[in-house]
Amino acid sequence: MPKTKTVKDYIRTIKDFPHDGIMFRDVTTLFADARGFRIAIDQMVQPYAGQRIDKVVGLEARGFILGGAIAHQLSVGFVPVRKKGKLPAAVISEDYTLEYGEATVELHDDAIQPGEKILVVDDLLATGGTAAASIRLIERLGGEILSCAFIIDLPDLGGRTRLETMGMEVHALCS
Ligand code: AMP
Repeated sequence: MPKTKTVKDYIRTIKDFPHDGIMFRDVTTLFADARGFRIAIDQMVQPYAGQRIDKVVGLEARGFILGGAIAHQLSVGFVPVRKKGKLPAAVISEDYTLEYGEATVELHDDAIQPGEKILVVDDLLATGGTAAASIRLIERLGGEILSCAFIIDLPDLGGRTRLETMGMEVHALCS
């Protein structure tokens, strides 16, 4: 009997993208498959059964696709964290360091109310720089982060340890 495919089996790896030495984990093949997308969303939501979540915050760009589906499943609102200059209303910003250079993420300054319980969602956790900057944004508005959910954790890059050191709970479907 053929083996049932797991979430990991739907993810495609592209060598040397966007530059040499990077193994790019491409989740578009997971998103494009009805069963793959369904089981990924179900498994990402599963740890939070019965817990209070007020909003899902998705990180640009693949975190929007996952976060939108998760927010719908939980019947809560969705809030985007975007790269600099993309959000139309008043924002707060956080800079963070990339392998080469710096980046900035932004959040609308009225998107989260103090005390709201937040689930942070992205496709992949590498160094944790993007997630850590996003967490700082949410906490500046008084949001309380319940957990951070990813499809993929790359443990060698230290993101999980970094987020756990900040006191975060981290869930990933595969590594
Ligand atoms: P980091 O801030 O280092 O944790 O990087 C996480 C962000 O970069 C996520 O939004 C990922 O989508 C993207 N990313 C980093 N490394 C990879 C990779 N090897 N494959 C696919 N996406 C990646």
